[in-house]
Amino acid sequence: MKALYPGSFDPLTLGHLDLIERGASLVDELVVAVLQNPGKSPAFSLEQRLRQITASTEHLGNVSVISFDGLTVACAKEQGTRLILRGLRAMSDFEYELQIAHTNRSLAPEFETVFLTTSAHYSFLSSSVVKEVARFGGAIDHMVPRVVAEDLARFFNSAFAPPSR
Ligand code: ADP
Repeated sequence: MKALYPGSFDPLTLGHLDLIERGASLVDELVVAVLQNPGKSPAFSLEQRLRQITASTEHLGNVSVISFDGLTVACAKEQGTRLILRGLRAMSDFEYELQIAHTNRSLAPEFETVFLTTSAHYSFLSSSVVKEVARFGGAIDHMVPRVVAEDLARFFNSAFAPPSR
């Protein structure tokens, strides 16, 4: 069984990684699909996000990382799977996720979305919360993989560096 785990991953958090590890233990093959154009301009380029996820999933033999643009169901079809994995942190995720799952099934009824609930200790984590904390210099080591923490430090240091004369 093969599953697709699509998302923006801007950037990857330990919550995402937990979902990847648990998802990968349930299927033969898990493909993490990074959305190229999330509508809003991402903090990290597609290449950076791919690198962050590849480096953080090195220990998982059945996980691969790809990028995609456009419809998730088209990407899943291309990957030869009809199983889409998503995560649920709280009720607030539910409405949005339900809408996407219904939309995908209306486009292609053979696709199924399977949800894993987040691990309780990562349930507060989101990419935007992590960026907000990093922006103001807070500790993020317990929120993101090391490679992401380094990228975030670089990103916000250069963003707030005084202009060179
Ligand atoms: P998107 O922009 O597609 O929502 P995200 O990168 O924000 O992409 O999230 C991808 C998926 O990972 C979503 O299903 C989201 O609910 C899930 N997710 C995000 N953060 C966590 C977390 N801390 N624990 C578990 N799942 C999460």
